[in-house]
Amino acid sequence: MSSLGTMMEFPLTLDHLLVRAERMFPAVPVVSRLPDRSLHRTTYGAVTKRARALAEALTRAGLRKGDRVATLMWNHAAHLETYLGVPLAGGVVHTLNLRLAPEELAYIIQHAADRFLLVDEVLLPLWEKVRPRAGIEKVVVVSAAQGGEYEALLATATGRWTPPQLSEGDACGMCYTSGTTGMPKGVVYTHRSTMLHTLGATLADVLAVRHADVILPVVPMFHANAWGLPYAAVMIGAKLVFPGPALDAESVLDLMARERVTVAAGVPTVWLAVLEALDREPTRWSFVPGLRMIVGGSAAPESMLRGYDRHGMTVVHAWGMTEMSPLGSVSHLGPDADTLDEAARYAQRARQGRPSPLVEIRAMNESGEVPWDDHTMGELQVRGPWVTARYHENEEAKDRWTADGWFRTGDVVTLDSTGSIKLADRTKDLVKSGGEWISSVDLENALMGHPAVKEAAVVAVPHPRWGERPLATVVLRQGRTVTAAELQEWLRPKFAKFWIPEAIVFAETIPRTSAGKFRKSELRERYAGWTWPGPTSSS
Ligand code: ADP
Repeated sequence: MSSLGTMMEFPLTLDHLLVRAERMFPAVPVVSRLPDRSLHRTTYGAVTKRARALAEALTRAGLRKGDRVATLMWNHAAHLETYLGVPLAGGVVHTLNLRLAPEELAYIIQHAADRFLLVDEVLLPLWEKVRPRAGIEKVVVVSAAQGGEYEALLATATGRWTPPQLSEGDACGMCYTSGTTGMPKGVVYTHRSTMLHTLGATLADVLAVRHADVILPVVPMFHANAWGLPYAAVMIGAKLVFPGPALDAESVLDLMARERVTVAAGVPTVWLAVLEALDREPTRWSFVPGLRMIVGGSAAPESMLRGYDRHGMTVVHAWGMTEMSPLGSVSHLGPDADTLDEAARYAQRARQGRPSPLVEIRAMNESGEVPWDDHTMGELQVRGPWVTARYHENEEAKDRWTADGWFRTGDVVTLDSTGSIKLADRTKDLVKSGGEWISSVDLENALMGHPAVKEAAVVAVPHPRWGERPLATVVLRQGRTVTAAELQEWLRPKFAKFWIPEAIVFAETIPRTSAGKFRKSELRERYAGWTWPGPTSSS
């Protein structure tokens, strides 16, 4: 008897999402804020039609299977058209991070061998600085107003065109990590990895999005595919709302209120600013009850979870990486939630949470795999169908994969008995004091729990006696004051004595990366020569 099953060969390719949306959800709205702040309204019906036209037009313009089509764009409907249209033509959407320096963009474009580029008209000043070094064959400007090059390109499509046969192993998208160290590294997603990631993203214990939702990806579509939300929304037919370039707190709040958003997603920086605006004017906006904010990219402090709960809004904490498409884990309360007191519930929600199905995890230290005892720290390693197996054309970074095929995340974590991840640090950000690890993330979160503190970043600074000691840079909330000694008192009941930073520096801002993360390398450089006072007394 045959050992094979009887099921159909059905490739996991993205054209399935397009067909589904055009058949089932043609009337579902897609709303985009334009650079002039007006709102552009369209539907999945129109977006999918235009995506097909884009696929045909690019093919007529010379696109061959596997060719890279770069996008230098904000979040809006035309960007969604590229997400759907380019893979339909067998091309690879390469989303460029518009916050990078021109030299970095030129490097990435060349390294990826991008042939086509679609660029927002408002980003032309940036593009002009990149253009001389980029070597793109065909550039198409996307204008918010009627007409323009992009519309002319779409108009070359006849509708009499059959998309190429796609295989699930074909590349469909590409993204570079923003590279806090070294040169940016490229990850190439396949149709299959993206489809499985899209299915995974929608699960109730992952992002729990569905047809009735209204989804606002504040996270840029160039930052790890806006965490998979555009594809997830198309698959389930959820209304999409795009913020365009207007990412300030008031614009985001206006959009959430006006478009009846039920799920919004972004990095903590954005949500901290939004929370401040809400706290200032708590009654100005009215939202859909149960509005959820998916927060990831860096740790969501517990104080943020509590802050939003006061407004009847719920923070959902997620962890991921560009290398993981990007979803790794999401923190949800389990069936024991009712037995937990308030502090324990918040502590659980502030973790990075349990890995999504199909993502396997382990944490390793020098002695091997660490126990899931919620205490022993180890480097988190992952594997799964939407985790990259290598970087694009990069030999140096091969050591990011273990001999037995796991990806080394570079994040140091503890795991509890249920596999819920608690991230202590990136490997390079841990503070090692007197031979003991100190988690900068834990200290930052506790500092940000103080009512006078807006932001806090903790870095390791060389110390003559202890090797390293933590130094905290603190930004105060407007109109608030607090002394270093008061902050140390605030931390004392929460941590072992040797964790308390002797050095607390007040600053106006904390330097950030293009993805809105603390740029700790800059802080480490700034304080490398820090002189520690008198007798070294942190024992
Ligand atoms: P880059 O490496 O270029 O900054 P990524 O967005 O891929 O770009 O960054 C992934 C890293 O971001 C993770 O390895 C982790 O250190 C950090 N990160 C992501 N989500 C969280 C989170 N919820 N809590 C803490 N750190 C996070």
